[in-house]
Amino acid sequence: SAQLPARQIDSYLADLYQQYLPLRTGSVYVSEPDLLQLDPDGFGISLVTVEGQIYSVGDSQVPFLIQSISKVFSYGLALEDHGRDYVLTKVDVEPSGDTYNSIIKLEANSKRPYNPMVNTGAIATTSLIQGTSPAVRLQRILAMYRRYIGHRVFVDTPTLVSEQVMGDRNWAIAYLLRHFDMLSGDLKQTLDLYLQQCSVLITCQDLAVMGATLANQGINPLTSERAIQSGYVQDLLSVMNTCGMYDYAGEWVYQVGFPAKSGVGGGIIGVVPGRMGIAVFSPRLDSRGNSVRGIQVCKALSQRLGLHLFASG
Ligand code: GLN
Repeated sequence: SAQLPARQIDSYLADLYQQYLPLRTGSVYVSEPDLLQLDPDGFGISLVTVEGQIYSVGDSQVPFLIQSISKVFSYGLALEDHGRDYVLTKVDVEPSGDTYNSIIKLEANSKRPYNPMVNTGAIATTSLIQGTSPAVRLQRILAMYRRYIGHRVFVDTPTLVSEQVMGDRNWAIAYLLRHFDMLSGDLKQTLDLYLQQCSVLITCQDLAVMGATLANQGINPLTSERAIQSGYVQDLLSVMNTCGMYDYAGEWVYQVGFPAKSGVGGGIIGVVPGRMGIAVFSPRLDSRGNSVRGIQVCKALSQRLGLHLFASG
């Protein structure tokens, strides 16, 4: 799997796009149909290198929901606010092997949620984000996204309202977490903030820039702005590597081999440390909530560009 010269990457991405365009299996996550008027067959691929080179094909500028990919970044903010040792007392770093919104192991794992990449852990990390009011805490998350992306992004209000209406499972998680002393403060404020961070609209190219920022030790390669303290990048990449793809995480590492995170909005973000950020947007999901085309595209990219972290050559 030889590496492609830069000038061939555009044509390779165009081929990849054509190859997987006919793949139309899976269903779209819709809290309520038609809120975003999202094309279920929309499809985009973006790569952004740590030198700031951008390669995009397809619907790379179509806005969609960041959803669970937010979990990576809010974990980073919680680490910056409290430090690694304290955050570890509230959220473990073990893959759960369960679906993203599972509640089942909350009682078994020393009462700590398994990891910050699934709902239980993410609700706990979101509750750690500091700020003098709910608005300030949301503003800090949005400001963080802006540093990673290079421009402002916004919460989609109808999506947020819809997610709040359907939020019973997350409420159950929050009550259990509080029962185990893993969550304090106002539950509604924490759940609102969690759903706000999930309901932000981003594009495939934005996501690839975010990935490139993590690949570049936390410095956005387009703006040169630091998005996260460099010491915590390894924390984020580690949990992405072991836990980022829900209950597909083990097979992902085996087959694709770079840290990644998916969201039910149809996005997957990947990070090849020191090299590039990768993003795929395609809303049709498999039974685990991972983008069907996203998985296939990342497998192919990993093989063709030699991106598996343990590749022998
Ligand atoms: N908003 C979704 C939830 O909390 C987030 C999900 C995701 O991308 N897995 O249920």
